[in-house]
Amino acid sequence: MKHKLFATFLLCAFGLALIPPVQADSPGKSAQTARKVKKATAGKDKATSAPTSQLALHPVPVYTDYSGLNANMRKINATYRNREFRAYKPINELSRQLKIASYSSFENPTGIAFETGDTISIMMEGSPRTKVEFIIRDFRDPGAETRHPLTSGQNTITAAHFGHGYVNYRDSDPDTAPPIRLKITGGRINGLFTHHDDAAVWKKLLANAKSDWLDIMGTRTQWVLDTAALRKSCPEKGPELVKLYDEQMTLEQQLLGWEWEGIHPGNHIMGRSNWNTGTYMHADGLGGSYVITATDGIVNVDEARRTGAWGTSHEFGHVNQTRPGMMWAGTTETTVNIFSQVVNYTFNPEEVRLEHENCPTLDGPWVRGGRFDAYVNSALVNRELWQFQRGPDDGNRQPGERCGDCFVILCPMWQLYLYNTVARGNELFYPRIFKNVRDTDESQWKTGEIRMKYLDRCCDAAQLNFSSFFLETGMLAVMNRYVNDYGSRWVTITEDMCAASLEHASQYPEPDTPVLFYITANNVGIYRDKLAITPSPDFTPTPSKEALPRFTVPADKWANAVAFEVYNAEGRLIRICLRGLNQKDNSSTDVFLPAGAADVMAVSWDGKRYLIYTTSKDKKVDAQPDACQGPGTSTVKKKAPESKKSSSKKKKKKSSRK
Ligand SMILES: [Zn+2]
Repeated sequence: MKHKLFATFLLCAFGLALIPPVQADSPGKSAQTARKVKKATAGKDKATSAPTSQLALHPVPVYTDYSGLNANMRKINATYRNREFRAYKPINELSRQLKIASYSSFENPTGIAFETGDTISIMMEGSPRTKVEFIIRDFRDPGAETRHPLTSGQNTITAAHFGHGYVNYRDSDPDTAPPIRLKITGGRINGLFTHHDDAAVWKKLLANAKSDWLDIMGTRTQWVLDTAALRKSCPEKGPELVKLYDEQMTLEQQLLGWEWEGIHPGNHIMGRSNWNTGTYMHADGLGGSYVITATDGIVNVDEARRTGAWGTSHEFGHVNQTRPGMMWAGTTETTVNIFSQVVNYTFNPEEVRLEHENCPTLDGPWVRGGRFDAYVNSALVNRELWQFQRGPDDGNRQPGERCGDCFVILCPMWQLYLYNTVARGNELFYPRIFKNVRDTDESQWKTGEIRMKYLDRCCDAAQLNFSSFFLETGMLAVMNRYVNDYGSRWVTITEDMCAASLEHASQYPEPDTPVLFYITANNVGIYRDKLAITPSPDFTPTPSKEALPRFTVPADKWANAVAFEVYNAEGRLIRICLRGLNQKDNSSTDVFLPAGAADVMAVSWDGKRYLIYTTSKDKKVDAQPDACQGPGTSTVKKKAPESKKSSSKKKKKKSSRK
């Protein structure tokens, strides 16, 4: 759909441009946290202490074997032209079964290129149960594709246009589908790089390739990539390139739970350079599409890993989005980024999109960590509904109109990953949710029902009652709104639906933290290790003289604070600043003081608050926790708030007062 593609690459362009550079290490940084987390996760939980992660219980099936293809480079003319091919699951069947979009339409690349008018002779041996086609495809703009049915025995084809050859052999049961062998004459060898090959093979193939693209086969990913970009930006690291994207896809597919459940099809997801420079990055019926001007960035292995490989994991993520249960109205550009965020966090925890991107806050300044800053202030201070919370990507939208910032919408979904998977070591949290989506017939469900089911699924997957978190973050609320997405819809959530959600969640115990909504990559280690705040009553913050005054709290002052809350003289929460806000590492946190700021509280992972700054002569900063009615404190009502515009929000705000 045109509209879909357009919006998709708009977002992707914005995303890549704003990823900031890597920052130097320093105490308390997220990299250390991540390393610790990995260790702790491995040894902590019975479920994760097994030699093999449950995420990888079942190996990915391998069909066509590429292991000997480039073993002897002097003989590739023979090996490429006389090969065995295996069947892969039909694309549509796979999409239906796994509730995803389309995996590769070009499994079984031959690595042979054909010119217009070439006579191609193909001898097919074997007895396939299904129709086999020889595809000649030109991936350049405007592109061309012809499909030629093959029969056992001799086949002769005249190439109608330039393109590479691919063997389309599909069978619902690839395990038992008979292999076929093709002996191909005609055309010229362009090369096919595989995950079995080393750098020497890579360099030879790059040197000899005549086409504008090179075919590449990983274990999970398949690529058609601009040869010029490969020569320029990846002249030597072919093996690392394949490994990078296989790792990326391992993270995505294991998050989906395919190998835990044992349903990985062995099909490849396809990424390709796109020669149409009127496009950017997007996902379409073939997989991930990346404009050739962006290919340099994709194939520069070190750069891609450093930036968290967001663009590719995002577009592949669109293919993997499991629908409709994990892709309902308003979340097309949100749930896709569960994948990107996990990939980004794993590749480079010091530069994570949600936590570390520089972007504007709701009150003006550009800060590092602006996405999360928008989320906590829209959700917890302004009490906006989830999916309508404002953020840097809102443009001129108003709260309640259309949809909120798609990255802000992602924040609580990411927080549930951080808490369950990183802090608690439950690696099956999201896999269980995806499995339940696959196992449930949601075809007749309305958007509101699907959205509410996500909340149930989170509680089921964690065996915890997250309703306080859902209430505080605006995820659980009565609503009747028009959601703008690719195809807009009304979303209705009634009081009865909210009551049913609360009832469902109540079968489980509460999480061990009442302030789950403050968890980020910058403080997840504090939640995991349950680190108490170390009071620093002697620390005297000095607000700056800027239009929006601020002071900076070093990490060793009020150590282990997960967030800072700013209240006015009436005790109303007016701003939240998460640990590490606007700092390159977790060495300190900027605390902003909007007009009327009177008290600042440091918040501990267990919900304790400490007064660290006050303009009141009647109050004193000391080492004792202070009474406070901030978000998540005891009086959270197990009743869904009304969402209807400001009047109900005001009511809710009052209930959150100090
Ligand atoms: Zn997108």
